[in-house]
Amino acid sequence: MRDFSNAKRIVVKVGTNVLTKKNAIDSDYIKKIANEISKLVDKGIKVILVSSGAIGFGSMKLKLKQKPRDIKLRQALAAIGQRILMNEYAKAFDKYNVEVAQILLTYDVISERKTFLNLRNCVENLLKMNIVPIINENDVISIDEIGTRFGDNDRLSAMVASKIDADLLILLSDIDGLYTDNPKKNKNAKKLKIVKKITPDIEKFAGKSGSIFAVGGMKSKIDAAKITMRAGCSMVIAPGRKHNIISDIIDGKEIGTLFLAERRISSRKRWIINAKPNGKIIINECAEKVLKEGKSSLLPIGITSIEGSFKKGDVVVINDFAKAVPDLSSKEIDKIKGMKSKDICTILKKKCRDEVIKKENIVLV
Ligand code: GLU
Repeated sequence: MRDFSNAKRIVVKVGTNVLTKKNAIDSDYIKKIANEISKLVDKGIKVILVSSGAIGFGSMKLKLKQKPRDIKLRQALAAIGQRILMNEYAKAFDKYNVEVAQILLTYDVISERKTFLNLRNCVENLLKMNIVPIINENDVISIDEIGTRFGDNDRLSAMVASKIDADLLILLSDIDGLYTDNPKKNKNAKKLKIVKKITPDIEKFAGKSGSIFAVGGMKSKIDAAKITMRAGCSMVIAPGRKHNIISDIIDGKEIGTLFLAERRISSRKRWIINAKPNGKIIINECAEKVLKEGKSSLLPIGITSIEGSFKKGDVVVINDFAKAVPDLSSKEIDKIKGMKSKDICTILKKKCRDEVIKKENIVLV
């Protein structure tokens, strides 16, 4: 039996496909979503809406037949479309006397501790005032080339849900759940009602080809589930166009696929896992074995090389099995790699500890 009647914080994500109909903005649908969310706000539930649509709405405004690939044009379309998107929401929520606020994010803003704390303060304040924050990726400035991009709002909404300790993330999509195969091609494909653990099988279901499954579709939703589940937040992939979809999910109806929350890991560990890494530390086999046991810190003797440039306190990747926060910068680590701990202070000419990364700052991924 599903039961979300106690959920106090909910993130709802709406995809572009759900917000549009026959290549036009579906204002009636936006009104319905506003109605459903306003009812929750009236009940004292804190809701954050993550909405796509900027580039799509911009394309429609300029009467383009499809979203262009050219990055500069996409940036311009996002700037045009985001304004239209917010106008639609503001109008729709106005009818229910609920205020909305716009927040545009990039991956580095959420990864960087300081900017993230600013963001969290702002979101908490808005929620306290019963204002619905409407979040989208800042597609005007975040492009793949500068590595600041989420790329899809599934992962972005999961990060938001994790950061604000939400109880539930609802992904309103044009797919009604996770299937064992592409249901458009295979009549025997079965929809999974519940996923308690992301197993290799689950990843395989998501990775199979077919238009809805491939392009960012299910794969990014499974990545989102990984983020929310370890944050103690359940996630539901649900058919966005179904009548009363949000209230039905909260009432516990078995709609879509539920990814069940796991035990919540600490917010610091979650921050380390989800942050954008600024570099990489390559360590030898012996050090890898010791770190995987989770009982030891990383000592300089196990380090073979460094990639990228990072400061003390930035998040880095260790080989490909862990993320961590070092106590030294890449320049300093480079000087002491392969050395014995007792020599660190002499080489770095400063007072420092034996280890490069404390064990509590290493998280296996
Ligand atoms: N941020 C993009 C937009 O608003 C959409 C990303 C997505 O759909 O996942 O157009």
